[in-house]
Amino acid sequence: MNIILLGPPGAGKGTQAGFLVENRDMMQLSTGDMLREARTSGTEMGKKVAAVMDAGNLVTDEIVIGLIREKLEAGDAKGGYIFDGFPRTLAQADALGELLDELGQSLDMVIELEVNDDVLVDRIVGRAKEAAAAGQSVRADDNEESLKIRLMAYYKQTSPLIGYYYAKGHLKSVDGLASIEDVAQSIAQVMDSI
Ligand code: ADP
Repeated sequence: MNIILLGPPGAGKGTQAGFLVENRDMMQLSTGDMLREARTSGTEMGKKVAAVMDAGNLVTDEIVIGLIREKLEAGDAKGGYIFDGFPRTLAQADALGELLDELGQSLDMVIELEVNDDVLVDRIVGRAKEAAAAGQSVRADDNEESLKIRLMAYYKQTSPLIGYYYAKGHLKSVDGLASIEDVAQSIAQVMDSI
C-alpha cells in the first residue's frame, strides 16, 4: 500500500511514519530528511537548498521530484511507501502520479492529519527548546520566524492538495490533535478499511 501523510509542519507526520515503518514494513520517503542529508553532503545542490530551507521556503519542484524519482526507481518497498512531506505542491502531486504510473504502481490513500495553528507553533517551538536544553542540535528552521513562513507556504502551496486528493477519492482525515497513540490507531483504522 502506498500512502501520503499530509499536514502542516509539526502535525506529526514523521512520528506516525516511524510507526508505520516499524509495524508494517513500509518505507518512509521524507523529502525533508533527504534534503537535510543533501545539505550536509557539501554538493552544489546541498548548498543551494540550505539557505532556502533555513528561511522556511520550499525547495524547487525539480529538485524534490528528482530525489523521489531516484528512490522510487531504485527501491522495492515490500510494504509500500509512505510519502512524508511530499508532495507539497500541485506540480509535485501530478509528478508523483505520473511516476507511480510509469512504475506500474498506484497511490492508495492520502491521510490528512488535522491540527490547529496554535498547537503547531507550540509544538515546534517546544521541540527546539527541548533539543537545546538536552544539548542536541536544533533544526535551523525550527524557530518562530521560519515557522511563520513554513506555515504560509503550507497554506498557499500545499493545502490545495487536500481538495485535489479529495476529488480523486483518496482523502481520509484523522484528528492530529489526539495523543500520539490515538493518532496511530486512527491511521491504522483507515488503512485497514480498504
Ligand atoms: P516540516 O517539519 O517543516 O514539515 P520537513 O522536514 O518536511 O519539515 O521539511 C523541511 C524543509 O525542507 C521545508 O521547509 C522545505 O524547505 C524543504 N522541503 C521538504 N520537502 C519539500 C518538498 N516536497 N518540496 C519543497 N520543499 C521541501
